[in-house]
Amino acid sequence: MSQIAFINNKPFTFNDGETILNFVRRIKEKRDAIPTLCDAPNLEPFGSCRVCSVEVSMTQDGPTRTVASCHTPVTNGQFIYTDSQSIQKLRKNIIELVLTDHPMDCLTCEVNGNCELQDVAAQVGIRKIRYPNGKNHLDRTKDLSHPYMTSDFSKCINCYRCVRACDEVQGQFVLNMSGRGFDNHIIKSSNQTFFESDCVSCGACAQACPTSAISDVFQSKSNLADEKIQTTCTYCGVGCNLEVSVKNGEILSIQAPYDAAVNQGHTCLKGRYAFKFYNHQDRLRTPLIKKNGEFVTATWDEAYDFIVQKLTSIKSQFGPDAIAGISSARTPNEENYLMQKFIRAVIGTNNIDCCARVCHSPTALGMQRAFGTGAATNSIEDLDFTDCILLIGANSTDAHPVTGAKIKQKFMKGVTSIVIDPRKTELAKYATYFLQLKPGTNVALFNMMLYYIISENLVDQSFVDTRTEGYLDFKNQILALDMEELSNITGVDKNLVKNAAIAYAKAKAAMEFHGLGVTEHSQGTFAIQLIADLVMLTGNVGKKGAGMNPLRGQNNVQGAADMGAQPHQGAGYLDVTNLEINQLYNTFYGSTVPTKIGYKIPEMFNAAIDGDLKAMWIIGEDVVQTDPNTQKVIQALSNLDLLIMSEIFMTETCKYATVILPSSSFLEKEGTFTNGERRIQKVNKVVEPLLGTKPDGVQVIEVMNRMGYDQKPYSGETMLEEISQIVPFFAGVKWDRLGTMGLQWPVKPDGEDTKLLHTVEFTRGKGSFAFYPFEASNELNNYSKDYPYIITTNRELEHYNCGTMTRRTGNVEILTEDVLMINPMDAAKELINDGDFVCVESPRGKVDIKAKITDEVLPGILSSTFHFPEIMLNIITSNEHDSEALCPEYKVVSCRIRKSKGKYKKEMEAKYVS
Ligand code: SF4
Repeated sequence: MSQIAFINNKPFTFNDGETILNFVRRIKEKRDAIPTLCDAPNLEPFGSCRVCSVEVSMTQDGPTRTVASCHTPVTNGQFIYTDSQSIQKLRKNIIELVLTDHPMDCLTCEVNGNCELQDVAAQVGIRKIRYPNGKNHLDRTKDLSHPYMTSDFSKCINCYRCVRACDEVQGQFVLNMSGRGFDNHIIKSSNQTFFESDCVSCGACAQACPTSAISDVFQSKSNLADEKIQTTCTYCGVGCNLEVSVKNGEILSIQAPYDAAVNQGHTCLKGRYAFKFYNHQDRLRTPLIKKNGEFVTATWDEAYDFIVQKLTSIKSQFGPDAIAGISSARTPNEENYLMQKFIRAVIGTNNIDCCARVCHSPTALGMQRAFGTGAATNSIEDLDFTDCILLIGANSTDAHPVTGAKIKQKFMKGVTSIVIDPRKTELAKYATYFLQLKPGTNVALFNMMLYYIISENLVDQSFVDTRTEGYLDFKNQILALDMEELSNITGVDKNLVKNAAIAYAKAKAAMEFHGLGVTEHSQGTFAIQLIADLVMLTGNVGKKGAGMNPLRGQNNVQGAADMGAQPHQGAGYLDVTNLEINQLYNTFYGSTVPTKIGYKIPEMFNAAIDGDLKAMWIIGEDVVQTDPNTQKVIQALSNLDLLIMSEIFMTETCKYATVILPSSSFLEKEGTFTNGERRIQKVNKVVEPLLGTKPDGVQVIEVMNRMGYDQKPYSGETMLEEISQIVPFFAGVKWDRLGTMGLQWPVKPDGEDTKLLHTVEFTRGKGSFAFYPFEASNELNNYSKDYPYIITTNRELEHYNCGTMTRRTGNVEILTEDVLMINPMDAAKELINDGDFVCVESPRGKVDIKAKITDEVLPGILSSTFHFPEIMLNIITSNEHDSEALCPEYKVVSCRIRKSKGKYKKEMEAKYVS
């Protein structure tokens, strides 16, 4: 039954639970009727400033009372008066009092013309202030300590929006109110500067602040911009929507739209602030060809002629399989599609891969085997519908910060939470159950969980019977396992595992997330299949608030694989060995595409060392710094006759190139990225390509055309049109349909998209159970005697992967180097103090790195990042990889340690730092 309330005596229908403010704002002609100050779109109602006050009555012209509209629900038959005389007087008086304690320097203020206080003062009709000045805030000094965040609390109006943004959006609790009455003021942490505080620089407070009391060095809230252009973040797979302010062709700042489906006004410091790499002096601005060991500048024609002549000659002399490409998970779908098309349809080989190989290739393979589709089953918005979160091998507040912040909010609000990780991550500290297992023992631990769910009769039998196959064999194998033995292997108490398994199985809807802590292991694919078993066993798939959800690393790693940048499946995950599919590709591309599966990335390096692979084209991947066993990668690249690099900076890998093509960054190109929840979002060109650079897709097309293939000129729209004709789940994806929110694949021809997969049946029909026993990594079997420590790699919030972009932004002032996490007991045993250099040696080599003593890691376990070329941590990582998908085993590396004088660090700096 519809419910009616009256706004200024006119009837309107309201929604259940709607506040008066939201009700009035929803009615178009009333939208601006109520001014607010402490209200913000992504914050809970607060009711502090009272500027949103309205009068309400249960009868027309009856007695009224005054309420704050932001937190008062509408009731049936209610009469709401938004601008009665007494309300106008009240609002004006409130603003007058606020202004007594606010400097009147509007003309020189950075937010002049875009200040919410200024707007509200104008709306309520302030002409002069009847009260004497307050003295509270006017003498405070500005905080300019931080590379991004600034504050000037003389402008603070005590609305608490910054405090609430820090608490409710980021969950960091840095900002607070101190003092009473006139001494009431905002402080950071324990009254520190931004730089000294625990601030994670997400900028939520600056965006929330209605004045310039908290802002940033880019003055993001100023109205200096000529235009604001929406695009999608280039860093991680969350895929935040960004609004970029531009003036005279230069980027001024970035904000987050409140109506963005993915990030609702939030970002991390990478998306919001780490954009100044785009016009950094180090950007490559001209093609380079290596002659006599030195790079010399070349024109685009010279570079293309060189590439075409060399590729043609290698192809005719050694065949197409002597050539390979690595496409980039940082570039748009359209460019990935073009690159794989070039390698397949023009070169004539399936030797194409992308960095999904070194992160989530086991996820794609394992989920394809279990469900038929290797992508997230649910959407991030389902966090609002779950009552249990299982987070495995993912430090998401650092690596997927906006999703991580949402998960953190759920953990803090009491949703049952299970964290499985060798490291006590930030989220582990809030978890109901924290299972701190030994690195490399995921399979043993998942088998324990499966055992307890079956033995405690918590199986969703109806789901298993109707939706799956292979259960009986699987069950018998699981029930034959010895829990005591597995508990010893994992290092986790069996009762803790049992309780966590019971909590997961008993939840009405349990949502699983996992990261590289599951995949980057020798048993990565098997671990993924066991997670799929957990999900199916408990009926946690095909429904809201549940599912299996890989947290994708790079911004477009999902899209790169979707577009066919992998050696066994072409665009749309179609099997390259299938003759019918092959005919489809041949006809569509107008060329002959091979049916032989191509090299995966590790196989490319092996083939190059063996002399079978002669040429590679790598787009936007710094394999020397990021792929395991650096010396081996260098040996492989050095052995090539031709290494083409499309890059924005002179990376470690570029140094081994034969020819370098200067690429345009994401801010200078258009296309689409696909985030971790299968959402295809537009990347809009914000500024023109930096002079001398070209987008990767344009480079590929120009080489294709010179090699005799007629490929249409690049535009996001034309490329998407072509992709929609060959990738089945892109059938309805059209440029104009994407809007600002994007669409989640599969998208039907009529444009209908899909938030939830496998609702009625799995893509493969029935879900497939599979059992795998635990097997220790070869790395430990072979080396643990002489190399007794295990180092496991991770990421930090401030830097992205090899840091090529983030190290050229203010982020480098916040996090300056890689460090080695070491447990206090190990530090004491090895006589290592905090900040000492430690020599970490593995069977592959050694590095020097500064110690950070912390109980985040258990005794015997070390952890570090590979963001900085000065350390080159991948010198020590191994050749071990997942047995199925060949994803490297970054997470289990045998090593030994000793205190050092930093000798190897100096050698590395001499070698790698230009
Ligand atoms: Fe970009 Fe990821 Fe940060 Fe969002 S969470 S702003 S997508 S890096």
